Amino acid sequence: MVKRKIEKCFFCRRQIKGVRYIVRSVCYAACDNLEICPWDLSADLTELIRQEIKKIRKISGKKLNDEIAKCWEFSLCGRCAAEYRKNPADGRRAGWREKKDKR
Ligand SMILES: [Zn+2]
Repeated sequence: MVKRKIEKCFFCRRQIKGVRYIVRSVCYAACDNLEICPWDLSADLTELIRQEIKKIRKISGKKLNDEIAKCWEFSLCGRCAAEYRKNPADGRRAGWREKKDKR
């Protein structure tokens, strides 16, 4: 018999007994305003690139990585997954979870 790893729901913190749902989320920098014009192709950008590299070197690798893209994955029970699907961007959910944790 295959034993399933016991998982807790990320939102309600209860043990997931039925179907476990996985939520994957990615937050990444949009490439808005990155329009290439003829000047970009003809200009010497060496100094600009050098300055950008200098700025980047001052930022820690973790911070730089988090600013570019950050991924999350968590498990939900059926009840919380149903609520999540209704409105995935509901910011009140984090507060709801904190209340449940104080029990
Ligand atoms: Zn739950």
